[in-house]
Amino acid sequence: MTEPTYAVIGAGPSGLAAARNLQRRGIAWTGYDLADDVGGLWNIDGPRSTVYESAHLISSKRTTEFAEFPMGDEVADYPSHRELLAYFRDFADHFDLRDGFELGTEVLRAEPSDGGWDVTVRSAAGERTVRHAGVVVANGTLSQPSEPTFAGSFDGEVLHTSRYKSASVLDGARVLIIGAGNSGCDIAVDAVHHAASVDISVRRGYYFVPKYLFGKPADTLNQGKPLPPRIKQAIDRRVLRVFTGDPVRFGFPAPDYKIYESHPIVNTLILHHLGHGDIRVRRDVERLDGDGVVFTDGERGDYDVVVLATGYRLHYPFLDPALLDWSGEGSAPDLYLNVFSKQDPGLFVVGMIEATGIGWQGRYEQA
Ligand SMILES: Cc1cc2nc3c(=O)[nH]c(=O)nc-3n(C[C@H](O)[C@H](O)[C@H](O)COP(=O)(O)OP(=O)(O)OC[C@H]3O[C@@H](n4cnc5c(N)ncnc54)[C@H](O)[C@@H]3O)c2cc1C
Repeated sequence: MTEPTYAVIGAGPSGLAAARNLQRRGIAWTGYDLADDVGGLWNIDGPRSTVYESAHLISSKRTTEFAEFPMGDEVADYPSHRELLAYFRDFADHFDLRDGFELGTEVLRAEPSDGGWDVTVRSAAGERTVRHAGVVVANGTLSQPSEPTFAGSFDGEVLHTSRYKSASVLDGARVLIIGAGNSGCDIAVDAVHHAASVDISVRRGYYFVPKYLFGKPADTLNQGKPLPPRIKQAIDRRVLRVFTGDPVRFGFPAPDYKIYESHPIVNTLILHHLGHGDIRVRRDVERLDGDGVVFTDGERGDYDVVVLATGYRLHYPFLDPALLDWSGEGSAPDLYLNVFSKQDPGLFVVGMIEATGIGWQGRYEQA
């Protein structure tokens, strides 16, 4: 009988990084992804993908790519999801990883038993349970929508960013985007060219970083020469003040936290469109109100579509949360170094991390 392999759940950047590192160490593995191709959320046709037609990297290619597989010089600084899918396909083919993945196969359950793991999967061929030596979870962090509930009710369409694919759904509509994170700002910029009006409702202030500073991708300015966080925060805050000015001028609240304590918004166009009056900033939502929305400052707007750019939550439905020391909803699993289960020596998570500058190489190093 052959020895059980390690299961890798997910064939996105983190799953590919895990598979590649297991391969490098000569550890046998079997990958599963419910999509029909590798690439994770960068495969816009994947069932758990949350990218949209206009999605591009917000970190530049050189700070994001796998170090052992750099993107070609012909690839743009901030490639589109299409180029990234091609990159991940090439990565999988170059390192001969593709045959190790069972695509179109969903992991339904992963359970420790008798010093190993039983992993139950479902594919077109049906359901089966496979014996594995351990499990590397790489199912992504940005697929399961976090949808707040609001007082009142809305007569128009409510759309979470996870279901937004193309700006054509906003044609002619009066649009409110709730949340000004990176997806919210991308969609606001998309909407300008399609919608009748575009408002964006914010609860807090943000730092806006243009994609280029001094003619270079902003995140490459001190690449290879990392500064202590406090010094970087102080310098970058001043640089941003010079380049983008004060977002409070455009109606945003002042941030009540320091830059990089939360992911900054990397978007050159949002302030441009605010400055042109194409987008209007609104306060937090107080309640939905039939054909409109009432904000906490007492103002009201009429809308046809509300886009919830309210983020994503961690989701490990195939695991007993106790194995991750996880109380579920709203919190994060308590893992050693964000990777190792404290409950089972055969359980690992790769990619449960969202930090500025980590890129896929950061996920590779976790792996
Ligand atoms: C619009 C947008 C822009 C972004 N820009 C950047 C950027 O500029 N730089 C950056 O570093 N990151 C960016 N990200 C973050 C992105 O999450 C990472 O780049 C990367 O995709 C994370 O890889 P992952 O493999 O951990 O997860 P994912 O890419 O989400 O892949 C997870 C895979 O697991 C599979 N899966 C899930 N559940 C199961 C299951 N039960 N069974 C089998 N398979 C399963 C899914 O089908 C998917 O293929 C962006 C994200 C979005 C949405």
